[in-house]
Amino acid sequence: MRQTIEIKLSPSEAADEKAIHKRASELCQIKPSAIDEVIVLRKSIDARGSQPFIQLKLEVYIGEKQEPEAALIDQFKQVSDAPEIIIVGAGPTGYFAALELIELGLKPVIFDRGKDVRSRRRDLRDIQQFGIVNPNSNYCFGEGGAGTYSDGKLYTRSHKRGDIYKALKLFVEHGADPEILVDAHPHIGSNKLPQIVSNIRETIQHYGGEVHFDSLVTDFIVENNQMKGVVVHEKTERRGEAVILATGHSARDIYTLLNKKNIHIEPKPFALGVRVEHPQSLIDKIQYGQEERDANLPASSYRLACQVGQRGVFSFCMCPGGLVVPAATAPGEIVVNGMSMSRRDSAYANSGTVVQIELDDLQAFSKHGVFTSMEFQKSVEQTIFNAGNGGQQAPGQRMTDFVAGKTSKNLPGSSYIPGLFEAPLHELLPTFVYGKLKKGILEFGRKMKGYFTEEANVIATESRTSSPVKIPRNKETYMHVEVEGLFPAGEGAGYAGGIISAAMDGQNVARAVYAFAQK
Ligand SMILES: Cc1cc2nc3c(=O)[nH]c(=O)nc-3n(C[C@H](O)[C@H](O)[C@H](O)COP(=O)(O)OP(=O)(O)OC[C@H]3O[C@@H](n4cnc5c(N)ncnc54)[C@H](O)[C@@H]3O)c2cc1C
Repeated sequence: MRQTIEIKLSPSEAADEKAIHKRASELCQIKPSAIDEVIVLRKSIDARGSQPFIQLKLEVYIGEKQEPEAALIDQFKQVSDAPEIIIVGAGPTGYFAALELIELGLKPVIFDRGKDVRSRRRDLRDIQQFGIVNPNSNYCFGEGGAGTYSDGKLYTRSHKRGDIYKALKLFVEHGADPEILVDAHPHIGSNKLPQIVSNIRETIQHYGGEVHFDSLVTDFIVENNQMKGVVVHEKTERRGEAVILATGHSARDIYTLLNKKNIHIEPKPFALGVRVEHPQSLIDKIQYGQEERDANLPASSYRLACQVGQRGVFSFCMCPGGLVVPAATAPGEIVVNGMSMSRRDSAYANSGTVVQIELDDLQAFSKHGVFTSMEFQKSVEQTIFNAGNGGQQAPGQRMTDFVAGKTSKNLPGSSYIPGLFEAPLHELLPTFVYGKLKKGILEFGRKMKGYFTEEANVIATESRTSSPVKIPRNKETYMHVEVEGLFPAGEGAGYAGGIISAAMDGQNVARAVYAFAQK
């Protein structure tokens, strides 16, 4: 017999298996010894009251045990001799598309401009310590894509877009903690993601797929309006039944190439702003109401949004206990983002704080046509870079000075390893962006008492929030609207925003490719 129950426990009780069993037995009105197994189906934190609680949804097994679930990868097929599908990009979209293709009996052949996870680390160190940006290997490019050295939040609101459970289960089968299957806000962390990503690569190779690093795709082979394959490093051709284009939101050269080859793309609204960084202890105090965070509670987070005039201002990619990182993909630009380790134990909490940018806001850039948003994005990143010393030091301002429109005399501590310098962000950011951010931050301070503080840093530029270009595809076939055999996928095409939605889009596109290959 099985019984599903919901219980609320203090953080320390929720960390104690015996306490969970005891409460379950009380609710089911049976002796604890009569319970064979208690499985957590869902775990969330309720911090609305004066004391935070852990809310658990449990399945209580009485007189039976849970049947073990078969591993998804055990059902995979050997595909070495199967028809080949080219995938450009080894990010979550590309890797999850590859796993799905294998399940369906097709052979993925992946090309990525960057390096494998391990070799990629050296280039990240060069950015952090010496300000040197390798345009093919950085926080966005390389094995695992932008998701590898990230915060590793696996939370998505795109429930209608695909099978979230399947994507999470594949992460677990490749080494992620099974907790991610039940946690309301699952998280992996940058110390664990690289191993998981390389385990996924090993699965792809084990079943006969190919993964090629240091393989910049520089051209497409298009014949009679049909995508036949790709050219790597301007010389090596590789043909396949179809091409999945999963190059992420920062592959500006791919958008340029598509445009040059007259493959239809469109300018896309996106969001741009700053990264805000507070002491984590301050956010914990606000969210949990505790002077010192209970050891059984995770670093706390927030999600804030408001409307300023016709535009949304919102927090984005919040990284509790995280680090602000330099995420530029080319020399001459400053881009910041956030990441964290699995324990989320840094002294800082950061989040992107951005303004929704519509094409109407970018009249001055409209001469760039399909590249209107991309050129705007680039120009802000370059303006911010030019205000600095030529490295990856980022401009910062105390939050209170940012709102008051004055350069800070000094800055609070920050997790940003290349370092911050005091700068007039109120002058460096586009006027319409600054004006909305200022009002948004003040409004956030009203919604969350203590958020608006001189202890917080405002750091520029948070600009790689989503793709500034859309590669349009047919809703049913997932194929490009004009070119047969081209399957734009994931964040770079404008169909995902985050690791899990990218993974699910990769899976959806792989199934569409399978249907296409059957014809
Ligand atoms: C620092 C950071 C932290 C983040 N934190 C989170 C988080 O906590 N949770 C979350 O859900 N999302 C997070 N994101 C966003 C998330 O990583 C992306 O949404 C996701 O990775 C998009 O997946 P993708 O596969 O579509 O593209 P990407 O991950 O961008 O992968 C694209 C791949 O294509 C390759 N490529 C590009 N051009 C070419 C070419 N010409 N030839 C060959 N290969 C090419 C790149 O090298 C790259 O590996 C974060 C992003 C960053 C940068």
